[in-house]
Amino acid sequence: MDIQFIGAAGTVTGSNHLLRTEKGRVLLDCGLFQGKRKEAFELNRSFEFYNPKSIDAVILSHAHIDHAGNLPNLVKRGFSGPIFCTHATKDLCEVMLADSAHIQQKDTEFVNKKRAKQGKNLFEPLYSQADVEQTIKLMVGVDYHSEFEVIPGFKASFYDAGHILGSAVTYMKIKDKNRTIELGFSGDLGRPNMPILRDPEPIPDVDYFICESTYGGRFHEDYDMSEAKVVDVINKAIARQGKIIAPAFSLGRTQELVYLLHTIFEKGAAPVIPVVVDSPLSFNATQVFREHTECFDDEIKAFILRHEDPLGFNKLRFITDVQESKALNDQKGPMLIISASGMAESGRILHHLANNIQNPANIIMMTGYCAENTLGKKIIERRKEVNIFGEPYQVNAEVVVFNSLSAHADSDELIFYVNNFEREKMKDIFLVHGEPDQQEKFAKRLLLNRFNSVKIPKRGEYFSV
Ligand SMILES: [Zn+2]
Repeated sequence: MDIQFIGAAGTVTGSNHLLRTEKGRVLLDCGLFQGKRKEAFELNRSFEFYNPKSIDAVILSHAHIDHAGNLPNLVKRGFSGPIFCTHATKDLCEVMLADSAHIQQKDTEFVNKKRAKQGKNLFEPLYSQADVEQTIKLMVGVDYHSEFEVIPGFKASFYDAGHILGSAVTYMKIKDKNRTIELGFSGDLGRPNMPILRDPEPIPDVDYFICESTYGGRFHEDYDMSEAKVVDVINKAIARQGKIIAPAFSLGRTQELVYLLHTIFEKGAAPVIPVVVDSPLSFNATQVFREHTECFDDEIKAFILRHEDPLGFNKLRFITDVQESKALNDQKGPMLIISASGMAESGRILHHLANNIQNPANIIMMTGYCAENTLGKKIIERRKEVNIFGEPYQVNAEVVVFNSLSAHADSDELIFYVNNFEREKMKDIFLVHGEPDQQEKFAKRLLLNRFNSVKIPKRGEYFSV
């Protein structure tokens, strides 16, 4: 069989790998490329290396858009096979892909306005709500640890990846030319000892492992640091009567922050202040979290025994209405506003930043990964001035940055996970989902840890195994 690396090869978005066996063709993930608008636009539209009609099935690791976001386009272009994923991933995809279709439509309207003025032909959105609905119909929810047949002779099962709700590491047993190949795919790998989710679970030994490497050469602070830092931020906001503005991804980070705040207030580690989650997508994603307690770790299960709802408390308000969101401008601090997007590139967070970033009483709390060139990254770099909606704003608010809430394993945690594998059996580790410098550092560490061979595939490169 062959493995061809198509997306997330030498980069962190567009996760997409193609497995060709004698019996058929299976995709691992089908994510959107994100980044420079023009480049991403082209990459997402064209299926350069395969015809969607020729694909027999998809295995989906989790619901993040860079892993699942191009599935509706695959379906629009003729794919009609099953998409295997966990039950929670399926439910989260309903929410995430509908939101993505909405963003595609808005983006295309924006681009077309310019093109119309220039007399150029107009683009169609990448996909529509109807394509999303069709995609959800093809999704087959599977329990963790239960083996399923993907195509004849190709079996797989999911293990908890501990990255976001429903995320999975996939273990595959593939019969090809009279032998059986065991293959693992990490998807995105989470961290041990994080709240809400269970720790990443080892899978059985494999011949080949496709491993993410986002933080292959970096190290995070311990999760335990987060509580003290958030308590400190709350105390400062109270002293200054200021607002805390926290950009956060709707799926994962928002729920973790809410849970962390709930535990802080419950034990009296900080005075209770009003907390607002201002994002319709976060509201919907949180509903899906509440329905999937089977994915929770023991700590949050114990919390549920003491409280009805760990993702909500009496000083927390979810806002979905635009008018209510605008009304937050007139409200006085101390208060904490959590809003999307996490990299502050789009969404309501932009309004909150525009309204609050120039006031020195306020605090901008950055807890997530921000890619180069994003507004979030510029805030993390503590630039004196940033552009929001095309206008310059002075960054007078205090900027607090911490990475202890990261949902990705760092270099040590990745090594800890991969060390579970039998070295004699493992023929090759393929590194995906990382920038080249992180991949090279991680490859060196794996070789120092006595793994036989590590490869860093380029886009379109394939390997016969
Ligand atoms: Zn992810």
